[in-house]
Amino acid sequence: MSTEILPVATSAQVRAHARRLLLRHPRALLGALALHALAAVAGLVTPRLLGDLVEGVERGDADIDTVALAIAGFVVAQGVLVRYAYYASARLGERILAELREEFVGRVLALPLSRVERAGTGDLLSRTSRDVDTLSNTVRHAAPEILISLLSIAFTLGALALTGPLVALPCLVVVPLLWGVMRWYLRRAGAGYEREMVAWANMTDGLAETVHGARTVDALGLAERRMRRCDDDIAGSYRAERYTLRLRTVLFPVAEFSFVLPVAATVFVGGLFHIHGMASLAQVTAATLYVQQLIGPVDVLLTWLDELQLGRASLARLLGVGNVPPDRSPGGARPDGERLAARGVRYAYRGGHDVLHDVDLTLRPGERLAVVGPSGAGKSTLGRLLAGVDGPRAGTVTVGEGAGAVPLVDLPLDDLRGHVALVTQDHHVFRGTVRDNLVMARPVTDAEAEAALRAVDWDGPGLDALVGSGGEALSPAQAQQLALARLVLADPHTLVLDEATSLLDPRAARRLERTLAAVLDGRTVVAIAHRLHTAHDADRVAVVENGRVTELGTHDELIAADGSYAALWSSWHGDSSRHGDSSRHGDREPSR
Ligand code: ADP
Repeated sequence: MSTEILPVATSAQVRAHARRLLLRHPRALLGALALHALAAVAGLVTPRLLGDLVEGVERGDADIDTVALAIAGFVVAQGVLVRYAYYASARLGERILAELREEFVGRVLALPLSRVERAGTGDLLSRTSRDVDTLSNTVRHAAPEILISLLSIAFTLGALALTGPLVALPCLVVVPLLWGVMRWYLRRAGAGYEREMVAWANMTDGLAETVHGARTVDALGLAERRMRRCDDDIAGSYRAERYTLRLRTVLFPVAEFSFVLPVAATVFVGGLFHIHGMASLAQVTAATLYVQQLIGPVDVLLTWLDELQLGRASLARLLGVGNVPPDRSPGGARPDGERLAARGVRYAYRGGHDVLHDVDLTLRPGERLAVVGPSGAGKSTLGRLLAGVDGPRAGTVTVGEGAGAVPLVDLPLDDLRGHVALVTQDHHVFRGTVRDNLVMARPVTDAEAEAALRAVDWDGPGLDALVGSGGEALSPAQAQQLALARLVLADPHTLVLDEATSLLDPRAARRLERTLAAVLDGRTVVAIAHRLHTAHDADRVAVVENGRVTELGTHDELIAADGSYAALWSSWHGDSSRHGDSSRHGDREPSR
């Protein structure tokens, strides 16, 4: 299966979104910043006091006790302020993070199903796990630390300038060096980290696919190939990680060197200034201490800037999910009537390869239409389009009569499910109570939920029982009953059945068929038939071949027409006297 990675947001989108996030809670942000600023100011008094103390000692009139007491007071004040500042910024961070997660879930749920299937689950999985984790780290730690260091640096530089413009100058020698290396680094890091994450997603994807298709891999002897793919993915990931590691091995040593340089320069040049009477001892002492104090925040800034690059790449991937163009455009139109019609429908899974060509098919309300045809002809695809799961590439699938007809892709999902639903063999039981599994159809009362369970012959646990992973295990038949009960609650007038019962053991299948018959009663039904007797019982039969509806009519009409259907029927009827056993025939397809 070829996968096509989901989009990644552009840098401009990421910047704009980060700005919006940051400014969404202006009061909380200002509060946190003010506390951090106060803490930084409290920390800046000490060097000034120490500088004065040194000079006082030299002059011989120092009041050491008072100064020591003042320093102690400011240190305690700084500690208290830092505590509240961190608390305020952590709260803000958690709030932003929660919103980010909710937005991401919203974006994922709005993704067109076909696009998710094409992108492979690995990509989406690595975005929901690794990227969300990385971003949490950025929001929780990197963003506040960077803000705090920027504040401390700004205040310290201000204090330094106030101490004496002359003694503030020497530390500037480091600016070109740091500026150069940061520019070099930041230009490369973003793309490097993005590649790293794509490589990681590829690896996850490949592994998930191998594990998921382990039997196929085994049966077709693909182990060697899958192993090679895995090795290639690991090699790709290794290359991507090495690249960013190389960036860091340049950045960090240069940064370390640039920490010592300004301190040395301030002591040396400041000393010269003092000798020539251009600066006092207090100024040089305070300036040196301030420059020394700058090392901490600058170091933190550099370390977290790296983390910020990672977070930026993750945010780009999370936001990118929202860049997938929607395949639905819900408007306010309400369909009038229950007639489902496909006109001139074309569909392609991959660009340029239509699997449905110009299909026209109008259902008569209340009828039972069987869709038959060879495997790969496009029956399931047609079913998905008729149920509104995917939107057609060209043409329309509408519900309603005449002028009251509305394209399925223009209906909000909740409304759509009230008109038509697709029933397949995939019955995921969601983790939660039986009730939780039912109310996802629509909010219902317990009495309605119980009525729906009765309608499907439910023999499983009660509404409050915990099911799904970690809960009570349901049999495949029960899982299907649950899905049918959801259908009863959604109450669509049209149902598309795709191989609804083929995986069950015959006894359970017969029972389910009775249940199904009760659920189908009174609704329009499109049955994608893998057993011809279903076709025989249907009101009309549509034969799909090579992406086209080639025959359409009642069983008797099609037999009389003596075309593909008649040929299928006679071959099936000719060598099997028993209905329901068609496994040897072309109309039975391997389950996917
Ligand atoms: P049928 O239900 O009649 O067996 P399908 O509708 O499943 O046929 O498939 C029609 C064609 O579309 C086939 O050629 C199949 O290989 C292709 N196809 C089906 N699903 C996908 C998919 N998810 N991605 C790409 N091609 C697909």
